[in-house]
Order: sequence, then structure tokens, then C-alpha cells
Amino acid sequence: MAPALVEEYITRSSHPLSAFYHKIVAGERITREDAVTIYESDDLLAIGILADTARVLRTPPEVRDYVYWVHNFHINPTNICEAHCKFCSFKKGPGSPFAYVMSVDDVIKQVNDYPMKDQLSEFHIVSGLYKEQGLAYYRDLFKALKQHFPKVHIKGLTAVELDYLSKLEGIPVEETLAVLKEAGLGSLPGGGAEVFAERVRELVCVDKIPASEWLRIHGLAHQMGMQSNATLLAGLGETPEERIDHILAIREQQDKTGGFMTFIPLNCYYDNNAIDAKNALTGVENLKNFAISRILLDNVPHIKSFWIHIGEKISQVSLSFGVDDIDGTVVQEKIAHAAGTEASEAMTQAELVNMIRKAGKIPVERDTVYNIIRVYDEQLV
Ligand code: SF4
Repeated sequence: MAPALVEEYITRSSHPLSAFYHKIVAGERITREDAVTIYESDDLLAIGILADTARVLRTPPEVRDYVYWVHNFHINPTNICEAHCKFCSFKKGPGSPFAYVMSVDDVIKQVNDYPMKDQLSEFHIVSGLYKEQGLAYYRDLFKALKQHFPKVHIKGLTAVELDYLSKLEGIPVEETLAVLKEAGLGSLPGGGAEVFAERVRELVCVDKIPASEWLRIHGLAHQMGMQSNATLLAGLGETPEERIDHILAIREQQDKTGGFMTFIPLNCYYDNNAIDAKNALTGVENLKNFAISRILLDNVPHIKSFWIHIGEKISQVSLSFGVDDIDGTVVQEKIAHAAGTEASEAMTQAELVNMIRKAGKIPVERDTVYNIIRVYDEQLV
């Protein structure tokens, strides 16, 4: 729809969401009550207009059509985990024939075997909670990765893993972060947040740290000069209000410590785990989650749709619902695939570029902290 028509559609005084459009244009903060009303609307087009308006107005004009991606490589050092998250299809017990544990040398070899390793700018490292891989393992792993691939940023270990390592070593999280930062850790991924609502956590991940601790650990990282991401794992049986409260908790933390780069609404998959598939999100709910995240998070610069979770086509549509990042090339995604996502396990650079262009946007390769590596104008493939 042409911009003038878009404005006319949503600003008609009879449109039930027009007041929120005017609030966004005026730079006013959207409240919880506003968000619930927006989320309840079945006018998906209007919700998309609100989110895209928020994205456009909060983005510098020269980069408004940019959609970011990163050339990254996922490393999952073990699938053995002591926790019992009901949505997890990745975890194995130590005696399982499918359990694996990677030594530092195994990881280095895995990266070395990747033909495009010279083009990588990020390692995304998350793993199971396993006592044989304590702080010394991760310190040595990060040091070795930095020694072999000094230009590649390490985004590693969720707040849950950092809490586990700290308890294992009997030291405060601050100390764990300091050791890992010294070894090469650059930023934190957004995982482990799931849904912050205690009601849901008690049902699906009772042995995970509570929301307050997840947020505190990210705040500590921010105060130590490391940026981070944040996620929402929807489709666990949470209510729309609980999704909104989760996003608002991120906004509140961001007001205090300001280090979140990207918010990533994810959706659960149901193969090989104990979550009832009747909780599965519809495509419409996925788009609402992207949109409401962009509308509420006036202090977080980027909203990401992780194409591995939602597939390429909804990812493309999400770019009109507030999203400006679609993650990256990934290489060897294990976690969502263990749970049944039908998206492919990796996408080449050319495929990513093509996917973004076909959605009418300009593909931009970034590094982890959003320094621009390359703008893919029409000459570049
Ligand atoms: S989600 Fe993470 S912490 Fe929970 S069981 Fe799976 S690997 Fe362990």
C-alpha cells in the first residue's frame, strides 16, 4: 500500500487503533493496556502499519530500508544437560547413545572444516548444562577460538549457562563474566529467557533461573561493557498478556542498563518434547509478536525474526511487521531442528540476500554489534 493510503487507513477517526498510531508518531510510550488492545485486534494490516511506523520513525532515514544479517556459525559444545525443560528436544542424558561432548580441539576442527570460515564474523555458542564442561572449558574454548579466528566475535552463553557455571565454581556471576570476557567473550545471546511469567516457568522449566535473575545477569553484562540480545519463546501455553509482560520486562531492564541490541520473538516446536502442540502459534500470532515487540520496545534498536524458527516466507512477511534483522547463515543449527522446524539448517549468503531483496528491502551484512560490513546494492550478490 502507498504510504499516503497507509496513513489514511489507520488515521480514520473510526479506526479502533488510530489513537495508537498518533501516540507512536508523537513518540509517546505505548502502555501495557494499549498493547493488550492492539494485540486483541484482528486487523492484522493495521497492526503491521503500527509496527512499521514505529520502525521507520525510530530508524535513521539513511538506513530505513536496511535488513541485517550476520555470517555466523553456531557451536553447541554438548547436548548433555542437567536441566529438564519440557520444550527442549536438544538435551540428552549422559548415558544416551545420542549424547555428544566436544573438546576444544573438536570445536576448532569443526570451524576449520567450514569452507567459508574466512568470511565468518560471529560464533554463536550455546550448550547444555554439563558439569564436565565448567568455567575452565569455556575459558579455554574462547581463548582457542580467538587464537585461531581473532577477527570473529564470540557471542556466547545464555544467562542460564552463566548462572550454572557460577554455581558450579562457587563464584559470583560477575566473576564468571570477567573470566570469560578476558578469554574473548564479546556479547551474550538472548536465550534462556523463555517466557518470564512464573506460572509458565513452573510448568515448563521449573529448574531454570527466574526472570529477575536472567535480567540481572544481562544487566551485569551491560555494566561490564558487553551488549546482549533477548528472546521470547512463545507457544508454551502462555497468554497474550504474559507475552506482553515479558516484552515490558525487557523494556524496563533496557531503561536501566541499555545494552540490549536485538529482541527476538521465537516460537516453540513440538517434536520430541513434552509441550502440547495445541499451544502452537499461528502465522498471525507470530506476526503479532514481531509487531507488538517493535511497538513496545522503543528503546531496543532491532527486532529479529529467526528464519530457522519461522521459515523463510513468514520471515519475509515479518519485514513489514517491525522486523529489521533475519539472523544469519547459521551453519549446523541443532536446537530448533531437534524440535521439528522444517526450515533448512543453513542458508548461503546469496540465498539470504535474495530472500531480503524479494521482500523489497536492502540486504546488509553486519557484525554482531551492528557495524556494517557490506551493503548489498544491486551489483553485489
Ligand atoms: S533448554 Fe537448555 S537448559 Fe533447558 S534442557 Fe535444553 S539444553 Fe538444558
